[in-house]
Amino acid sequence: MCMTSIVIAGAGYGGVMAGRKFEKAMQPFTLINKHSYHQFITWLHEAAGGRHRIDDYKVELSEVFRQSIVTQIKDEVTFIDRQQRKVIGKKGEYPYDYAMIALGSAPEFFGIKGLAEYSLQLRSIETARQIRTHIEQQFTAYREDQDETHLRIVVGGAGLTGIEFVGELMDWLPDLCDRLGIPNNRFEVQNIEAAPAILPALSENLQTKAKKILEEKGVRIRTNTKITKVEADAVYLESGEVVHAKTIVWTGGVRANPVLKNSGFTCDGRGRAKVNAYLQSIDDERVFVIGDCASFESAGRPLPPTAQLATQMGDVAATNLLALSKGEQMVHFQPKILGTLASLGRDVGVGFIAGMQTSGTPAGIAKELSKVKYLWQLGGLRMVTRNRRSLVREY
Ligand code: NAD
Repeated sequence: MCMTSIVIAGAGYGGVMAGRKFEKAMQPFTLINKHSYHQFITWLHEAAGGRHRIDDYKVELSEVFRQSIVTQIKDEVTFIDRQQRKVIGKKGEYPYDYAMIALGSAPEFFGIKGLAEYSLQLRSIETARQIRTHIEQQFTAYREDQDETHLRIVVGGAGLTGIEFVGELMDWLPDLCDRLGIPNNRFEVQNIEAAPAILPALSENLQTKAKKILEEKGVRIRTNTKITKVEADAVYLESGEVVHAKTIVWTGGVRANPVLKNSGFTCDGRGRAKVNAYLQSIDDERVFVIGDCASFESAGRPLPPTAQLATQMGDVAATNLLALSKGEQMVHFQPKILGTLASLGRDVGVGFIAGMQTSGTPAGIAKELSKVKYLWQLGGLRMVTRNRRSLVREY
């Protein structure tokens, strides 16, 4: 067994996959994470949109890593001190021989005035809970004063996050209205997108299908419409129009965790640390950077920050870190985009798998099956059995 000191910063998709690899190799490591749990971030639209219990969208790290070789520390990383080879947290300092930085991303506000202050963002279990509670409170308040703005929800951005969230809302809000005794033709969901089309990650054909499905469900999709300013209860558009709404959710993009830039890593325009073919920071071979924190060039542009790629990076970076520590040859990271699926509510979706397009119910089923696949990667049959009933639809 190698006694190299390894610190993983962050227990998102990349961090836990790297940890799983070390655990299988019986390599001790320290895992530092802000929370005691791993969150299923890519399914949070379901949590915010009323599908299942919010706490089902997380799993305690002590359930993911059950071996004594894993030291788990609940702390928030604030700095990577490459000179002293220490990961610095709010509560302590953690020396390393090799570090794996997997601290995820933060919302990108593009300097839009009022956006950070007055919008809700879908980025954690707690913000999902906040969004769900906020919507329930607004709908309840409508019963008191009949102010229609309580029932208007504006979602800024029609990337995968925004689209999956509005799809989910359209399945939940009619039930919420029924529960509260509100006529369910009163609420309005506007999805506002600056670009000419929704879902930039998908083909034109799938964009069109997704738009049609969502419009049939009742979403008001507004493309070529840019948000320029936000105030409490008001969204300002480039055209001069002001949309009054008591719920404003921003899903307009992400940038890497600011710790990388603040720690002096060479970063791209979205704050992601540039890495080489082995996923090492170009500034320091002892530091591997993965997931949303890494700027890895493929076909001339950085890879998108997705969970799928983060898990692949975690696996390869852990293999490389072990190889480097033993003086062995590392391998190049070769990203494989196996598919992209967007749910459009509880039953249907759009996307592609292995180059084949899918939409409607088959895409919805494929999306549910992709959850099982991830649970299997995370902890085999034990993790699938633990979570399947609470998170995956029965067919
Ligand atoms: P995104 O960057 O993919 O989409 C944000 C959208 O907001 C863009 O279409 C952009 O044009 C729009 N926008 C930006 N500024 C605006 C403005 N001022 N007014 C109106 N619209 C504006 O962000 P995302 O959806 O949060 O996704 C982030 C990453 O996570 C992406 O790489 C995505 O692929 C990935 N992701 C994947 C899945 C999945 O695989 N199912 C789910 C969620 C996110």
